[in-house]
Amino acid sequence: ATPTAVMCGTGVGASLGILVKGGDVLEKAHAVDAVVFDKTGTLTTGEPVVTDEIAVCTSKDEALALAASAESASEHPLARAVVRAARARSLALDAILDATSVPGRGVRAVLKTRGDVAVGNVEMMRSNLGLELPDEISADVDRLRAEAKTALLIASKGRVLALLGVADAPRPEAAAAIAALPKKTQVWMLTGDHRETALAVARQVGIPPDRVEAGVLPEDKSTFVRRLGDRGRVVAMVGDGVNDSPALAAADVGLAIGGGTQVAIEAADVVLIKSDLRDVVVALDLSRAVYRRIK
Ligand code: ADP
Ligand code: MG
Repeated sequence: ATPTAVMCGTGVGASLGILVKGGDVLEKAHAVDAVVFDKTGTLTTGEPVVTDEIAVCTSKDEALALAASAESASEHPLARAVVRAARARSLALDAILDATSVPGRGVRAVLKTRGDVAVGNVEMMRSNLGLELPDEISADVDRLRAEAKTALLIASKGRVLALLGVADAPRPEAAAAIAALPKKTQVWMLTGDHRETALAVARQVGIPPDRVEAGVLPEDKSTFVRRLGDRGRVVAMVGDGVNDSPALAAADVGLAIGGGTQVAIEAADVVLIKSDLRDVVVALDLSRAVYRRIK
């Protein structure tokens, strides 16, 4: 490799807000033929909003206060949305005595006055808590997913009490960025979210349904990336670092979307400072331009 072309490439990248960690990154990136996008916080803004509240055995205010109290210790974007919604209504939160996060599923907490509470997805209710959903809630869960919303269930004292719908809009440039990738590039969505929700978001951004890998636990995201590599693909992974840093590290080229967490910035080969998904296309174009000059 001529160091000059590579150095120019990394310099051009930096001036565009695309930080490339080392010259060999651009060389690897020119051959990328599969791009895997994390959903939450990457294809979507990661600033989700609580849009629906359905309570069965309690009031909506009480359900939201319960959920926000449990989520107040979590950094997850969904948790922040729940806490913001409760603050907007000036609901008093209950102090947390103990909290545990269940990666890819939700949180459990013990509250000072209300006791035990769990907030999470259907799998968490069934597998971690052994709870079934009341019929009236099941139908709403399906409806929320068809609307591209994430369904969060709230349970306490052995019962599912309420359901929240949380909408996380696609980034405005997501569809344009995906459309601008070369036609031969395989584009994937990788998410821990439920399949129906993931499919609804995929439709909005232009990812075909057979390229959606949903219900993937955080620790399995890197396995998926490695499996694509084993099938002969040169893989770029784009993520925000929430639950996907090992996948960023496992990819041939890991791209962290800015504002990313410290772990993401460390695990990635490329940092997209502007958090603009079109910079994924710019970074890959740049690497091809540099590679042509090296050859
Ligand atoms: P993604 O892969 O889309 O970035 P995650 O792996 O972080 O999403 O989370 C997957 C799913 O786990 C979420 O859609 C949600 O149902 C559930 N979940 C994770 N963390 C929380 C939390 N703090 N509160 C409620 N639900 C959560
Ligand atoms: Mg994420």
